[in-house]
Amino acid sequence: MMLQDDTGVENKTVVQKEQQGLPRDIRHGLSPELLETVDFATLAVRAGGRRSQEGEHSEALYLTSSFVYASADEAAKRFAGTEPGNIYSRFTNPTVAMFEERLAALEGAEKCVATASGMAAILATMLALLSAGDEVVVSLSVFGTTRVLFDKYLAKFGIKTHWVTLTDVQAWAAAIRPATRMFFLETPSNPLGEVADLCQLAELAHQHGILLVVDNCFCSPALQQPLRFGVDLIVHSATKFLDGQGRCLGGAVLGRSELLQEVYGYIRTCGASMSPFNAWVFLKGMETLELRMRAQSDSALLLAQWLCTQPAVSQVYYGGLPQHPQHALACKQQAHFAPLLSFVVHGGREAAWSLMDATRLFSITGNLGDTKSTITHPATTTHGRLSEADKAASGIVEGLIRLSIGLESRQDLQNDLAQAMP
Ligand SMILES: *Cc1c(COP(=O)(O)O)cnc(C)c1O
Repeated sequence: MMLQDDTGVENKTVVQKEQQGLPRDIRHGLSPELLETVDFATLAVRAGGRRSQEGEHSEALYLTSSFVYASADEAAKRFAGTEPGNIYSRFTNPTVAMFEERLAALEGAEKCVATASGMAAILATMLALLSAGDEVVVSLSVFGTTRVLFDKYLAKFGIKTHWVTLTDVQAWAAAIRPATRMFFLETPSNPLGEVADLCQLAELAHQHGILLVVDNCFCSPALQQPLRFGVDLIVHSATKFLDGQGRCLGGAVLGRSELLQEVYGYIRTCGASMSPFNAWVFLKGMETLELRMRAQSDSALLLAQWLCTQPAVSQVYYGGLPQHPQHALACKQQAHFAPLLSFVVHGGREAAWSLMDATRLFSITGNLGDTKSTITHPATTTHGRLSEADKAASGIVEGLIRLSIGLESRQDLQNDLAQAMP
């Protein structure tokens, strides 16, 4: 801190600080100027941090459903919105606000709204911004539950979905009709790691007044920041890499303020708000996000390369391999490759299941994004509800196995897969 008194500007700063009675303002996180200049790793640890009068170092957990007022007049002003401040944790909560500010800083977004889960974030985006009669175009390779959301629930309210192949820009263009309001996709996709060209799709969408919404769950902002490529909105399942340790459910929607205002209105009215406890866990998770993502991605790349050499394996899907069809695009859009990979073993379901059962380190679970490596058989679990035709169209064959690589020693993971190979 500068305390010289030879320039008027710095004198003024000192005076302001003295008036506040503190040598520096310990209650606030990064100043707007610093926010603009520091690196991702600094934002992940510091952005959004706020301190109470107590001066706690770690972010406080405000585990309270409601807030009190100094007077009836103050209560009236808060409810009228003429005075800022908390009312009720379905609307705002200081711990949740810290989570929102930190994630917004990481994604380079104007605003973030936290939600109770990733699915709540997707539903909030759709219900806040679409109406009956609107149409959306969605990639076939989205998360299984997302498919059910569009096909079963949004369809009930007159929102029609056209399904297209993620990487086929012509198909996206051909699906546009006068009522099309939104494109929705995940990139890279799960479990095959296909990559969408975000700049191309954003251009196409914007030519037709369509919003481009991207689920950025698999890369997280540590590896990919979709808003840089013209994407309008990001949705997250914080349950995955943002927490990174498999503890809590949560989600978020990010983007421009005017769009987020609608999403916020939906959340505070319809109730899928994030729990302050979960927000507090995610704040801690984000502090190690970049370190984890880099270490996990490095291991995933080495394992993908090793899997390519295995006679029992007929195919490996990983964006980090030069033979992957969208490898160049992945290099352009991502700082690194997501720590998810999949491979096909000869011998179909029987061989895949026996390999999974023979592993001793990998957890057999549908979840991903954890420090613990997980192994999944998509055809009978995460993608089990798809029709046979949809599975075939999405490349979900019976011999396919998905790995989410965690923080165990990569040699131990490789040894475990080696001893489990059929
Ligand atoms: C898990 C997941 C979701 C849903 O998130 P929840 O937090 O489980 O509701 C959405 N999108 C993707 C890509 C996911 O992996």
